[in-house]
Amino acid sequence: MAERAARARLVADRLRTAAVDVVALGWVDNAGIARVKAVPVGGLEHAAARGVGAAPCFDVFLVDDSITESRVGSGPVGDLRLRPDLDRLVPLAAQPGWAWAPADRHTQDDTPHPGCQRRFARRMESAARERGLTLLAGVEVEWVVALAGPPEEPPRYPTHGPAYGLQRLADLSDYLRDVLRALEHQGLTVLQIHPEYAPGQFEVSVAAEGPVAAADTAVLVRHTVRAVSIRHGLRASFAPAVEPDGVGNGAHLHLSLWRGERNLGHGGPGPHGLTEEAQAFFAGVLAALPELLVLGTPSPAGYLRLVPSRWAGAYQCWGLENREAALRLVTGSAGERSSAANAEIKCFDATANPYLVVGGVIAAGLAGIDQGLRLPPETTVDPAALPPGSVPRLPTDLPQAIAAFERSAVLREALGEPLYEAVLAVRRAEQELFAGREPEEIIAATRWRY
Ligand code: GLU
Ligand code: MG
Repeated sequence: MAERAARARLVADRLRTAAVDVVALGWVDNAGIARVKAVPVGGLEHAAARGVGAAPCFDVFLVDDSITESRVGSGPVGDLRLRPDLDRLVPLAAQPGWAWAPADRHTQDDTPHPGCQRRFARRMESAARERGLTLLAGVEVEWVVALAGPPEEPPRYPTHGPAYGLQRLADLSDYLRDVLRALEHQGLTVLQIHPEYAPGQFEVSVAAEGPVAAADTAVLVRHTVRAVSIRHGLRASFAPAVEPDGVGNGAHLHLSLWRGERNLGHGGPGPHGLTEEAQAFFAGVLAALPELLVLGTPSPAGYLRLVPSRWAGAYQCWGLENREAALRLVTGSAGERSSAANAEIKCFDATANPYLVVGGVIAAGLAGIDQGLRLPPETTVDPAALPPGSVPRLPTDLPQAIAAFERSAVLREALGEPLYEAVLAVRRAEQELFAGREPEEIIAATRWRY
């Protein structure tokens, strides 16, 4: 504790020199909402040593800020401590005077809170490391940008340029450059930024890193896009469905598996060069996708996006560069395959808590290795073009995903009972919240929440 305090004093000095006054301590709840407490720079030392108070009932908040119940967190009583991860603290480029750090949640007795999603992700990262495996991950961030206006009105877009159209860059040139610069000032390596398919839609991707770091980055990138949007009189939506019947926002997870310097997705005897271990890992993930949707596509709104012919990955299949497969295998181009080969899980969206996503995917992948799984035959075409039933659809609504999750011993054991129960309680309550509502109503209620 004394060590943490000493370290925080040094960090605080550095922040004062950089004219930072306030530090936001962020965490993501089981509803996928990034929540926050903030302390002045002078309070960072105490926050790092003892944490900052937050109620345990945050474990059972819903997207509309109503609160459900589960054994770990219900009601107004109790206290948890948010402790900033000083290694990941960064001044926010689009919020002068502010810094942000992801927080881990502990009890008042300084033990880890069993419902802490970031700790779950770290445990799974360690479980892989104990087998000599490391992972590199990256979350693609898609968003729709609209003119700021009353949130109850349908969105009006600041660009009417075509999908992937160069015109969109001209319409929003300063905005996009500011997004890029803010991300880079925060130490992120941007790989691409480009217009996407839907009206007002854009995408940014950043370099892969360890799974927990990638989840932190997903939070930071979205927050940064949001803050830059506001500075430009705009409003960003990361919701899976922004317009009824439109292409939505995904949060695809790219993942590669390594043993030391060796990318296990390349140079092996399996399909497209997968090693046995990588094949078993990805087969484990593919097999568990129905239950993983509870972590990765957790909102009823997500099922308005997860439909065929929108590149959202609505089928439980895999294929090389197949954008309609939930698991798209990527080998990369000649000359860079040993570093570039990875798999992209396309079915997930940004209503997910990214820590639950990376942790759950690692758990499923390791179970695949334990069971020596093999990938099923490859799907080399659009599965929607095949006779119905040739390729299984993923759950088409949240109740189906919840039913799969309830049968999953692997995820239950990996999450641990308190976190498993809280996740399930929030999912059931959000299902109830939106039960019987029309797509338009679900979209209107979630469009500006994520
Ligand atoms: N926006 C699509 C989705 O909902 C993905 C488009 C793409 O393949 O990048 O996931
Ligand atoms: Mg995209």
